[in-house]
Amino acid sequence: MKTVFTAHRLYTPIEEISAPLLIVEDGRISEVFSRSQTELPAHTALVDFGDAILAPGFFDIHIHGGAGLDVMRAAPAELPRLGSFLATHGVTSYFPTTVAASLDATYAALELLANAIDAPPATNGDPVQARPLGIHLEGPFLSHKRRGVHPPEYLVTPTVEIFDRLWQAARGHVRMMTIAPEVPGALEVIAEAAHRNVCVSIGHSDAELPIAKDAVKAGAHHATHTFNAMRPLDHREPGIIGEVLSDDRISADIIADGIHVSPEVVKVFLRAKGHERAVLITDAISATGMPDGRYQLGPIQVDVKDGKCTSNGSLAGSVLTMDRAVRNVTKFSNWNLREAVRAATLNPAQAVTMSDNHGVLARGANADFVVMSPAGEVLKTIVAGRGF
Ligand SMILES: [Zn+2]
Repeated sequence: MKTVFTAHRLYTPIEEISAPLLIVEDGRISEVFSRSQTELPAHTALVDFGDAILAPGFFDIHIHGGAGLDVMRAAPAELPRLGSFLATHGVTSYFPTTVAASLDATYAALELLANAIDAPPATNGDPVQARPLGIHLEGPFLSHKRRGVHPPEYLVTPTVEIFDRLWQAARGHVRMMTIAPEVPGALEVIAEAAHRNVCVSIGHSDAELPIAKDAVKAGAHHATHTFNAMRPLDHREPGIIGEVLSDDRISADIIADGIHVSPEVVKVFLRAKGHERAVLITDAISATGMPDGRYQLGPIQVDVKDGKCTSNGSLAGSVLTMDRAVRNVTKFSNWNLREAVRAATLNPAQAVTMSDNHGVLARGANADFVVMSPAGEVLKTIVAGRGF
C-alpha cells in the first residue's frame, strides 16, 4: 500500500524541504520531494499534517527504562509498553542500556533483550512503539574512580573472554559499549569490540589525554555522556575531555537536561562537536514519565525528586525525554530545531553505524518519523509507516 504524507516542512535532517511529499510503501520510504518539484501522484491517499514538521524518528542510544520499566528487570511481555511510551516522545529506535550488575544477572538480561530485538515487528492491531535495535553495555568495564552509581562490586577488569561471554549472551546484539580505556586490559577489548562493529564509547573514565588517544587508535570512536563521570577538564591537563572535544574523528553524546551539564557547557559542547558529531541521549531510567518516588536502575535504588535522580547523593540517570532534549538544545544554544533534531536522529545512527535505514528521511530508509509542531512538540509518531 502506498501512502503520501505532507506537512509544512520536512527535515531530512541534513536539509529542510518545504511543502514536502513523503511517499511510503510497505513500511519504507520510496521517495521524498517537494511539491514545487513534482505533482502529487494520481490515485494516492494524502495524509496532510498542515503546518507541522516531519522529521526522522528519534534514536536514543543510551536509555535504561521509562514508564516504570527497567530494561534489565522488565519481563519480555512488558517491553512493548516501554516502546509505546517512548513513541509518545518521538522515539522510534533505541538501544536498551545495561548498568553494572552481577555477571549472571547481566547475561540473563542480555538474553531477554536479545529476544526482544529478534521479536517480529508490531502489527496493525498493536500500538505504535519504538523498537529496540541493539544493546548498549554501560559497564561492567568502568573506572572505579569514575563509576558514578554503578556498584563497585560489579565492576569487572576487562578481558576479551568476558566480553565474548557478554556478546554470546546477547547473541551478537551488542551494538555499543561504554568502557574506561585506562583500566588494564581495556585497549585489547576495545580493539576486539570495534572489530565486531560495536560502537566503542569511552566514558566512566579517569583517563589522561594520552590514554584517551590510545583508545581512539584502538578503535573507540564515541564518548559517553560527555563531562559526566569523566576526569574533569583542566586547561593544562585536559585528560579524556580534551580528547573528546578536540578530535574530529569521534562523535560524543551529552545529557541535555540542564541538570547533568549546565546549559552554557552544553553550548560549548555543541560548538566543539558541531552539527555532525554531537549526539543527544537521555540516560533515562524507569522513573521517566512517572511521579517522584523510589525506583530501580538495574540493581541500584534511585530516589527521584523534582526531576532529579540520585542514589547516595550521586546523579543516577535522568527522567529526560528525547523531545525535551531536542527543545532544550534550541534553548541552550543558537542551534535551530532542524540542527537539534539531527543530533537526535542521523548523528546517533551514524555513531552506531546504522545510518542507511535509520535517522534519515530518504529513499530506502524505514518510514519511522515524527510529526512535530514548529515549537518541537511531538504531535504524532509513525513507525514503519503505521500510526497516523
Ligand atoms: Zn546510563
